[in-house]
Amino acid sequence: MKQLSLASGHQIPVFGIGSWRMGEQQAKFNQEVSVIRAAIDMGITLIDSAEMYGEGGAEIVIGEAIQGRRDNLYLVSKFFPQNAGHDDVIQACERSLRRLNCDYLDLYLYHWPGNVPMSETFDALHSLQDNGKIRDFGVSNFDLEDLRDIPAGDQSKLGCNQIFYNLKHREVEWVVADWCRQYSVPLMAYSPLDQASSLLQSPLLANIALRHEASPAQIALAWLLHQPDTVVIPKSVKVERIKENLAAIEIQLKREELKELDQAFPSPHGPVRLSMR
Ligand code: NDP
Repeated sequence: MKQLSLASGHQIPVFGIGSWRMGEQQAKFNQEVSVIRAAIDMGITLIDSAEMYGEGGAEIVIGEAIQGRRDNLYLVSKFFPQNAGHDDVIQACERSLRRLNCDYLDLYLYHWPGNVPMSETFDALHSLQDNGKIRDFGVSNFDLEDLRDIPAGDQSKLGCNQIFYNLKHREVEWVVADWCRQYSVPLMAYSPLDQASSLLQSPLLANIALRHEASPAQIALAWLLHQPDTVVIPKSVKVERIKENLAAIEIQLKREELKELDQAFPSPHGPVRLSMR
């Protein structure tokens, strides 16, 4: 699996799985645990979660799935903006670690910008890092002005900006992606399949998929993986689909195909705000 290097020297894999909507129903607990275990068996190491998902339920599912296997994994979680105060960040992280049943997170993200002074939140993230509770910190849904608000010394230390990014939603390409590249901050594309919207019914995706003996979902993921320094975290509760999504890392799109996709799903031509799911 291809990895990207972070400023800290740690590596992040370019493919992982999401967990939004997991941990919401007790009846689905065992199935969700076994899906995550199957994903790990396939060699997937990055698992994305958040204290928000299932109000902690997704982290509990992941915690159960990773027992005895934590060492080789890359765990990502996020805290709510209402928990961005110094002590709140620390406590939110400790709660996430308890639910995940592990000692540290590989990457801890500020879920979306809130009202607490950035320096206070980043002080707390440094404390967590110094105490070995997190290896790297990063942000999510941060637009240009939010990124500029981050203490100067921390901007180039971000492990990622996790943003809404797929062929239909390329708002990040207006200015945020350039800022992230300038500071060597990877983009982590969430909802990379646009939550299985009409994107996957696109005749062009179907056509390109046919040429690669692939599925439209795989082409949508392969396109993102062709963007510089971009990580994808598709979510599925079906083992076959996770296998299918993972295989997208092998697809090499041709220059003409990338051009066709650009024409059908253009990058923004003027100022646009980052959108959010
Ligand atoms: P995705 O774009 O990953 O789409 C998920 C949907 O696509 C599910 O309905 C899934 O159904 C379906 N699906 C998965 N694989 C395939 C396939 N091969 N063919 C057809 N359908 C497929 O959406 P998410 O919003 O879940 O984004 C991924 C992850 O990103 C989240 O789970 C979460 O971890 C993170 N995220 C972060 C946000 C943030 O604010 N930071 C916001 C939103 C998401 P099924 O499960 O039935 O297979």
